[in-house]
Amino acid sequence: MMKLKIWGGAGEHGRSAYVLSSSRIHLLLDCGVKREGTGEYPLMEPELVPRLNAVFLSHAHEDHSVAIPILYRMGYQGEVWTTQETAAQVEGYFHSWSTFAKQWGASLPYEDTDYRSIRYRFLDREADKLTWFEAIPGVQAMWGRSGHMAGSVWLLLRVEGKVIFYSGDYTAESMLLGDDSPGSSASYADLAIIDAAYGTDTESQQDKLNTLETTISSTLLRGGKVLLPVPTTGRGQEMLLWAYKTYRDYPIVIEQGLLGGMERLLHHPEWLRQYADSTGQELISQLEHFLRRDDLLVPDSEAQRIHWLRTLDSSIWFITDGMMQSRLARWYYDQLRADSRNLILLTGHAAKGTFADQLLQAPEEYGACEVQKRRYKVHQGYEDVRRMLSTIPARHNVLVHAAKEETDQLRHQLLNDVAARNVQTQIHSLSASEELWF
Ligand SMILES: [Zn+2]
Ligand SMILES: [Zn+2]
Repeated sequence: MMKLKIWGGAGEHGRSAYVLSSSRIHLLLDCGVKREGTGEYPLMEPELVPRLNAVFLSHAHEDHSVAIPILYRMGYQGEVWTTQETAAQVEGYFHSWSTFAKQWGASLPYEDTDYRSIRYRFLDREADKLTWFEAIPGVQAMWGRSGHMAGSVWLLLRVEGKVIFYSGDYTAESMLLGDDSPGSSASYADLAIIDAAYGTDTESQQDKLNTLETTISSTLLRGGKVLLPVPTTGRGQEMLLWAYKTYRDYPIVIEQGLLGGMERLLHHPEWLRQYADSTGQELISQLEHFLRRDDLLVPDSEAQRIHWLRTLDSSIWFITDGMMQSRLARWYYDQLRADSRNLILLTGHAAKGTFADQLLQAPEEYGACEVQKRRYKVHQGYEDVRRMLSTIPARHNVLVHAAKEETDQLRHQLLNDVAARNVQTQIHSLSASEELWF
């Protein structure tokens, strides 16, 4: 028997950390933080941390990575298995988390030395994607791209005769990033930990894009500005390319950080989707073409921003920081809030208490401009979770990355579906500190 112990990430959004234990081996999948209050950390067991044999990191986002230094503080001496691209991005997330903690006067539960103690081992140097290799004695591993951000992976592990699948954060609908179907590599698993962040949402990416397009167009037509706060890497780059194709006649202003993410993709095309779009233009040449444009509006000073804010009417503004916690995001909001034609358009998760969340709860308390949330998919919705349950049929399936109530509802819906197909499978909705034997 093996045991899954949830340190965080199930029944909630944030602090993903899943421990897999057999009698001899203890593995940790991800170790992230949660941007609520002054910051929440996984419910780690200090006596277990020094006994962990290996840690696997699925991608760089803070809700999967930023609590890793605490492991070293608590005596972990092993390695962190991840991709080279993820390791290169993680530092930015550590930095933004320490800024967040400072902002709330909270002290970090680790020091710089702990962060510098992290010893990475690279999955993509050890083995090609979709290829088994021995990570540590007794543990076989395989990785594939999960389509969620550059460097993001899913993992398959073989430990003492058990097969474990962890989807990481997964989407098969990215316009930019490639994903490798895990179904081609494993025909079953004993345990699957499945990204179900948008699990009760039945819309496809195309549905989402149609809604986004209508929402943005109506703001532009009434002479308003659309502010799109997005994370520096991930959906920001995708939405940027999409916006350039969709709104050819409107000025689009881009904060520098987003272009950096675009350049990284160009230098690491192995994470890109390999197909050409309907115009026949390869993705990589689209990216090159985009970065070489001489009409990109990238402000390099506050004076420049103010100038464009004054002179451009109907326009789209891409800024970094999806939860609008940074000074720059607040500054932009202050510039736009007085005009009811303007729209603040949020497209991803807004953690409780963040400025984006406060705006969504009571927009009129802060200004006259409109505030809306329209999701852009970077996680699995209902149909995706359902498909994953059949691509890798697993005896036990643990749905993660969404609030408990939503996960319960999804579980209920899936059980009806799965029961109808008469499949032998168990679906679990768990919370932090719970355990599952398998
Ligand atoms: Zn993520
Ligand atoms: Zn996540």
